[in-house]
Amino acid sequence: MKDLKLIEGIDISDKKEDLICYSYDASYAEGIIPELVAWPKSTEEISKIIRWAANRGLKIVPRGAGTGMAGGAIPIKQKSLVVSLEKMREVYEINRKNFTTTVDPGVINGELQRELQIHGLFFPPDPASLEYCTIGGNVSTNAGGPRAIKYGVTRNYVYELEVVLSNGSTVKLGGVTAKRVVGYELKELLIGAEGTLGVISKITLKVLPEPEEIITLLLKFNDLAKAGECIPKILSKGITPRTLEFLDSTCLRIIEDNSEVGLPTNVEAMLLVELDGEITSIKRQAEMIVDITRKLKGETQVASDYYSREALWKARRSISPCILKMKDKKKINIDIAVPIDKLSKILLSLKEISEINQIPIVSFGHGGDGNIHVNILVTKDDEESQKKGFEIVTQVFQLTVELGGSISGEHGIGVTKKPYIEMQLSRKSLELMKAVKKVFDPKEIMNPGKIFPSE
Ligand SMILES: Cc1cc2nc3c(=O)[nH]c(=O)nc-3n(C[C@H](O)[C@H](O)[C@H](O)COP(=O)(O)OP(=O)(O)OC[C@H]3O[C@@H](n4cnc5c(N)ncnc54)[C@H](O)[C@@H]3O)c2cc1C
Repeated sequence: MKDLKLIEGIDISDKKEDLICYSYDASYAEGIIPELVAWPKSTEEISKIIRWAANRGLKIVPRGAGTGMAGGAIPIKQKSLVVSLEKMREVYEINRKNFTTTVDPGVINGELQRELQIHGLFFPPDPASLEYCTIGGNVSTNAGGPRAIKYGVTRNYVYELEVVLSNGSTVKLGGVTAKRVVGYELKELLIGAEGTLGVISKITLKVLPEPEEIITLLLKFNDLAKAGECIPKILSKGITPRTLEFLDSTCLRIIEDNSEVGLPTNVEAMLLVELDGEITSIKRQAEMIVDITRKLKGETQVASDYYSREALWKARRSISPCILKMKDKKKINIDIAVPIDKLSKILLSLKEISEINQIPIVSFGHGGDGNIHVNILVTKDDEESQKKGFEIVTQVFQLTVELGGSISGEHGIGVTKKPYIEMQLSRKSLELMKAVKKVFDPKEIMNPGKIFPSE
């Protein structure tokens, strides 16, 4: 492209070796090689890039760290310009009195957590990808994580957003008070919009003081349904753990094949439960959970210190990479969410679907909020197996919707799930969404081809 010099001062490249790195993400979706990639260092540079691109009919694909599981950050249209926010990584302010922090979109979640820790604070959303994913990506996918059961998802912590719109102008949305009723709360539209409405260039988040103590428990079950039943039983006692993670037997085996944490491999399912708060109160809750587990014929183990707890979380976060390492298998992953009273039903159905089709399905995830990551392991280079895998996807989505659930709990729609979105949303609500998109992006240059089903 000849006129690259017109946006001089901005890091931008049309070199194939640069472009190829921005043609994929952590999903199984296949993208195309973009025409250009730019690395802005400020809001003004994002603005300049968008104006320049819009004048040339280029499409903007915002990108954080590319850990998205739905293909949201990959270019799928010709003439795409990837706007990578990876160089915007400043934490501007940590306000310990108003419990807020203001950051650039490219700040890595885990890095922010460490900075906040110094001040005795934490940002509750903790996706398993926290060591790589960006806060801008978290906001754009409304990311969750293990702690969502107690603390909610990213949406619950976004106070204010600065956004560069499709014409290059900048707008501030939201505000830094806990309560606010001043017209339509437009920032809410940007959260989970997967880069289709604008580029988020600055973020003010709500943060919380760190809890006094944490207790970590492993609950082991030889019966899948009983593990599913245990979750609503814990919650019905008025206990809200900070995590209530579910791992099935295949998942435990895959982790142990790749690490030496010592997870049980002779059980049907495991729950990883964490309680936080004042020590006497959480000790009492832990005793109640031991009792519930015993009544369901399960066994409890306590992670006795910080290091064994960290090892467990490292293992839990390694599941997706471990699955990817399997030589002859390729995963088709979806992240459904069902009402928690339907958890046992969906877990048993997944087991049955796997057995009937003779295709392994690894299930794990945030059991406490009914959010299960379903990984369908198809055989590489085997068309029949892959076709079956996608038939299973449709079947699981159908069942999820019938059970009153959601076809995406936290990964978003991107490209991988857009063919299924009409299973979940009415025509009317899709029309309203398209109308909103038109207001923000009349020329359809912001991440086109994402979320909405192809015409
Ligand atoms: C091993 C692993 C574990 C994971 N665990 C979890 C989990 O527990 N919970 C969870 O919710 N997700 C999880 N994910 C998914 C993923 O990490 C999250 O969706 C994360 O929020 C994506 O952040 P990112 O910076 O990588 O964004 P990207 O993948 O780069 O982008 C995601 C979407 O956001 C848009 N976007 C990115 N930055 C901006 C911006 N500044 N402005 C506008 N749009 C933007 C992109 O266009 C794209 O549509 C996991 C992924 C992996 C690989």
